[in-house]
Amino acid sequence: MNARVAKILQYNEVFVDNELYLKYTTSKYPDRKIAILSCMDTRMTQLLPAALGLKNGDVKMITNAGALLTHPCGSGIYSLLVAIYELDVDTIMVVGHDDCGGKALNGVEIVEKMRARGVTQDALDHAAEHFMPVEEWMTGFGDVEHSVQHTVEIIANHGLIPKEIEVFGFVMDPETGLLRAVKND
Ligand SMILES: [Zn+2]
Repeated sequence: MNARVAKILQYNEVFVDNELYLKYTTSKYPDRKIAILSCMDTRMTQLLPAALGLKNGDVKMITNAGALLTHPCGSGIYSLLVAIYELDVDTIMVVGHDDCGGKALNGVEIVEKMRARGVTQDALDHAAEHFMPVEEWMTGFGDVEHSVQHTVEIIANHGLIPKEIEVFGFVMDPETGLLRAVKND
């Protein structure tokens, strides 16, 4: 274990010993019946729930790089299906943000970095064969409004998601937390 993880575990003991968890007590069911798919950006870890007035227990939070659904049967959709069928979610908010690191990813550069750190051609070929070439997979999504709209459409048109589920797209300012709606085309 490294020192940064050790520090986290050390705090964890203090947290539990002092019963600091008591104010977070809730159930696994989201009180507002909403799931939010957003980005893992560190600026929004606490800003997003704070700016939307959300407390522990209100919503299902699903975060990944870019608030994306990269595969129709991937972990993002899996999480949404669990939220809908097991946890009574009936509304989904997709929340991208300005200045997202996922916007301008360069897949070719990432593959170069992988090679420099010992990733083999076999591993790259395996990914290409079973999913898609890593250069394409790891390429940025470009315009955030367009990306959010695309994700909303994937959810709205997904064969495993009931038609009555409502899906809305937004972009957040990662400095102020201001949310703006993405217009449906
Ligand atoms: Zn982001």
